[in-house]
Amino acid sequence: MNEDSAQQYEKTTAFVWTERAFELLETGQLRAEIQQPSPGVEASHVWGKCPRCGHDVDDWQPLSTVTGLIGSRGPDSAAPGTIAVETVDISCGCGIVHPGAPDDTTGCGVSFRIEFEQGA
Ligand SMILES: [Zn+2]
Ligand SMILES: [Zn+2]
Repeated sequence: MNEDSAQQYEKTTAFVWTERAFELLETGQLRAEIQQPSPGVEASHVWGKCPRCGHDVDDWQPLSTVTGLIGSRGPDSAAPGTIAVETVDISCGCGIVHPGAPDDTTGCGVSFRIEFEQGA
């Protein structure tokens, strides 16, 4: 095992990790997309490096609140020019048991926020 890559587990939502995630997005080491697995259903997909521990994460989350941001429902109803910003909280799901983690818990404990901008 590579000791250097095993960060101590710490449950943290410190904003620095959201900033770091943003940097990784800018450099392409972390990717974020809104996907539409089926009509009317949207999910966020975030994959790449965890901003804290650097392990690979692959996170899917259904977006159930998106309609509140868009204002009207229906497959073709988004008004032209509308931009909805969706924020999604991601918890590290790297699958590695970090030192100090609670039993049966994988990931380094970090939570960070990704902002998606959706064009109409
Ligand atoms: Zn990790
Ligand atoms: Zn992590």
